[in-house]
Amino acid sequence: MNLFIVISFFISMLACLGWVYYFWKLDKYEQEPFHLLLITFVFGAFLTLIASFFEELGLEFFGLSIDDVIQNPFNSNLLLFFLYLVVVVGIVEEFVKLIPVRFYAFKQINEPIDGLIYASATAAGFAFVEDLLYIYYGFKAGFVEGIFITWVRILTSPVHILFASYWGIALGLYKQNPARKSDVIKGFFVAAFLHGLYDFFAFLGEIGSIGAAAVILVTIILLMKKVSFLLRISPFNNLNYFISCKYCNGLFPAKAQYCINCGKSTYWVEKENKIQLKYFCGNCKSRLNFGQNYCTSCGMKIHWK
Ligand SMILES: [Zn+2]
Ligand SMILES: [Zn+2]
Repeated sequence: MNLFIVISFFISMLACLGWVYYFWKLDKYEQEPFHLLLITFVFGAFLTLIASFFEELGLEFFGLSIDDVIQNPFNSNLLLFFLYLVVVVGIVEEFVKLIPVRFYAFKQINEPIDGLIYASATAAGFAFVEDLLYIYYGFKAGFVEGIFITWVRILTSPVHILFASYWGIALGLYKQNPARKSDVIKGFFVAAFLHGLYDFFAFLGEIGSIGAAAVILVTIILLMKKVSFLLRISPFNNLNYFISCKYCNGLFPAKAQYCINCGKSTYWVEKENKIQLKYFCGNCKSRLNFGQNYCTSCGMKIHWK
């Protein structure tokens, strides 16, 4: 039996580090040193133990028993259980994941996307230890249960990264612009709430699976748009064209986070159809078609990514 635990350990370690690698690759303009992500991963892993201590306390405080809820969800006090998942599990788990990013990795953040990259590392570390505990108890129950839990955990543990992305992205933007502190707090509570909501749906089994899938789908779509925004506004990219602002019609540099004419956030660019935006040469301001390699008026090479 111990051999299976060792195998599960390596499978889940590979899966979790695989996600760290995936996010590390997204940071394409100025990559973070990978060993710093590994250290953040280890911090996240250790803090899992603190989280489970507080979650036990929370269960006692709410007078709940997880076994009762799992075995007979619709006969137990579901509202109380929902509150426990949001107020205790969501807040505690998101908070312990945030600690290594805010208090260790924060000084390394030098472009907006870095907050997300470090958040993915701490969340993957957290997920790894949580996986191990689940897998260990799975194998204790039996071989088939152990294999089953191993695969369920490998497929579902990336949700820890998805939830962490809400405050991770906000932390990256806050490092650039201290006026955005309230976005970090907002991102944290959105993450905690969605985390609790997802766990609640997951506990409900098949009935809840549509809700759980919806939470994940919305988060993935938002995350994809945010990644594209964070890369566009990175100080390390070479984008050298202008975009016409949909609010004031003035031109702003493609990598601007706020329009230079009206000051509004340029995040709306990510929500538009790329082909339909109006682009202009960064040198002579002639109109460009999306994807055009050189400006036809001045001959400058245009960098679209
Ligand atoms: Zn504008
Ligand atoms: Zn030109």
